[in-house]
Amino acid sequence: MIKTKNTLADILIIDDDSSVVMALNKALNKIGRIRFASDARQAFAMIEERHPDLILLDIELPDIRGLEVCSKLKSSPDTEDIPILFITSHSEVGFEEKVFDVGGADYIVKPLKPRVVAARVQTHLDYHRVIRLLEKLAHTDSMTGLANRRTFDEQLIIDLKHSRREREPLTVVLIDIDEFKKYNDHFGHIEGDDCIKNIASALYLSTRRPTDLAARYGGEEFAFILPNTDIDGAGLLLDELLKTIEQLNIAHAPNATYDVVTISIGFSTLIPEHELATDLDDWAIVKAADHALYESKNKGRNCVNYSPLG
Ligand code: GH3
Ligand code: MG
Ligand code: MG
Ligand code: MG
Repeated sequence: MIKTKNTLADILIIDDDSSVVMALNKALNKIGRIRFASDARQAFAMIEERHPDLILLDIELPDIRGLEVCSKLKSSPDTEDIPILFITSHSEVGFEEKVFDVGGADYIVKPLKPRVVAARVQTHLDYHRVIRLLEKLAHTDSMTGLANRRTFDEQLIIDLKHSRREREPLTVVLIDIDEFKKYNDHFGHIEGDDCIKNIASALYLSTRRPTDLAARYGGEEFAFILPNTDIDGAGLLLDELLKTIEQLNIAHAPNATYDVVTISIGFSTLIPEHELATDLDDWAIVKAADHALYESKNKGRNCVNYSPLG
């Protein structure tokens, strides 16, 4: 079993029967922090305020039917992953099929048995924690903790769509450590890995907006996606970044051009108003940034270059 962080889960109980709510609270208060809603309207407000880790949902609510509440939550990308366990009194014909048809994870039949309720809820919480952990691992570079190439590729498609729709600029940056082969050859691969980790931390800290993405693109190469960032904005950030990396003051190999480890940077910016509607694919911006990076290497490294799209 994969160990996951043992924080108290946030459990939302949606039921209009106060005796059920009290019984559930007693059964679950050691497993999670419990919130209550007595109808669907109140429940949606509470879910919007903070997404719970699990929902216990009465199949018969006073306003909207529990099944409809579940369908609605499952049809929104924001809430589709929250496990929903139904509470039912067996009175509905064919309730088992209906529960699973609308995307429910499980059901618990009244009268409620506290130990059964606790066990079922715990099973689903564990299962979802592991799924989330695996998703995180699949999207993270294990050495640096940055987003990995898969995340970069997925996020680029999403952010390009958003940029074109909202007519906002979008910048893609490629970064490569200078003469890293010499570093490895002189200090060894373990030191090389440490150097990559230190550079990765500095890169991560240099991206300031929550929508910015810093990824390890491969080997000693990194990439940023900077939504809503134009050429001038990117230029300022990246000039600053060059200085920051120099100031880390990581001694380079004696035969390297600079005394300390430096990076070369290439970037390109999508400006939706300037884009010819048809002929650019989603990877054109990465190719342009790569071309700009190549120029930075040719011009002697430790510098930033921009290359237009197309
Ligand atoms: P340039 O300035 O042109 O980029 O020169 P460079 O030596 O950095 O060029 P190149 O891309 O050919 O070499 C990259 C080196 O980075 C080669 C490879 O052994 C090393 N490297 C790639 N990934 C890792 C890693 O995870 N750990 C370590 N220690 N070294 C790595
Ligand atoms: Mg009810
Ligand atoms: Mg390289
Ligand atoms: Mg390199």
